[in-house]
Amino acid sequence: MSTVRTVDDLRSALAPARRARQTIGLVPTMGALHEGHLSLIRRARAECDVVVVSLFVNPAQFDERTDLDRYPRSERRDVDLATRAGADVMFAPSADEVYPPGFATAVEVLGVTDRLEGAARGSGHFRGVSTVVTKLLGMSMPDVAYFGQKDAQQVVVIRRLVADLNLALRIQVCPTVREPDGLAMSSRNARLSPEERARALALADALQAACGRAGEGERSAGALVDAARAALSARGVEPEYVELVDPETFEPCEGLAREALLVLAVRIGETRLIDNAILRPSAVGTPRQPDPRKAIV
Ligand code: AMP
Repeated sequence: MSTVRTVDDLRSALAPARRARQTIGLVPTMGALHEGHLSLIRRARAECDVVVVSLFVNPAQFDERTDLDRYPRSERRDVDLATRAGADVMFAPSADEVYPPGFATAVEVLGVTDRLEGAARGSGHFRGVSTVVTKLLGMSMPDVAYFGQKDAQQVVVIRRLVADLNLALRIQVCPTVREPDGLAMSSRNARLSPEERARALALADALQAACGRAGEGERSAGALVDAARAALSARGVEPEYVELVDPETFEPCEGLAREALLVLAVRIGETRLIDNAILRPSAVGTPRQPDPRKAIV
């Protein structure tokens, strides 16, 4: 695998593949790679001729300076892991390469960015994500870009911008990869103390509780959210939000008339964690609700 740091070098590295009409897959990451990221890289490896992994801790999407400063960085390890997962090119640009002097453009998706993560992290968060993803797509011009269901609202935002800007690529969403006890993998998990790591199980408990109630036939959003809240509070975790939302729009759902997404955000000590699970209306004869402790789509 080669590591390139400039847009010119990235384009040169991809030119032979483009000339040969090979397919290019892009996996955007902020580094500190874990099995979640590696599942995206492996999926890209299985589906594309050339796999590009970008590694860029995007200052524009951090609402708090301390969060940006504390974000884990481990490029050498990331290069090793990405290589073993099948990446061909690592694109690791500097902040100046991505945002050179005079840079003055922002990409803003309206509507879906107002709520939940958009509200909690400030309007700049999704503007930062949308702008950097649009730039990474312009720089690498992939046929497919891979994103995790773990960041479900981000997926909706990216699908919206790709459709609205007529970008010619496919977005592939991959299931959330979890630790054996159900905690969704995240670069932020490394910051949890052992006591916080134990309390972080509250997120999977909450999703499990809501899935369980949905499996018993409960359809009211209020009751499903209450079940999740009760599981959080049993581990002494106060949520920032818990909501049942439409998976396409992120607008609140009153009930489980059709598939919906239970989304939640909590703060455990200094660390903010998010997770989500797809809930399906249960009816006689339908299979049981998926278990959020296992990887769910
Ligand atoms: P990040 O480095 O946190 O910006 O994440 C890069 C990509 O990996 C995003 O598309 C995330 O949604 C995805 N991702 C992060 N954690 C997981 C996970 N546990 N399972 C699957 N994908 C993930």
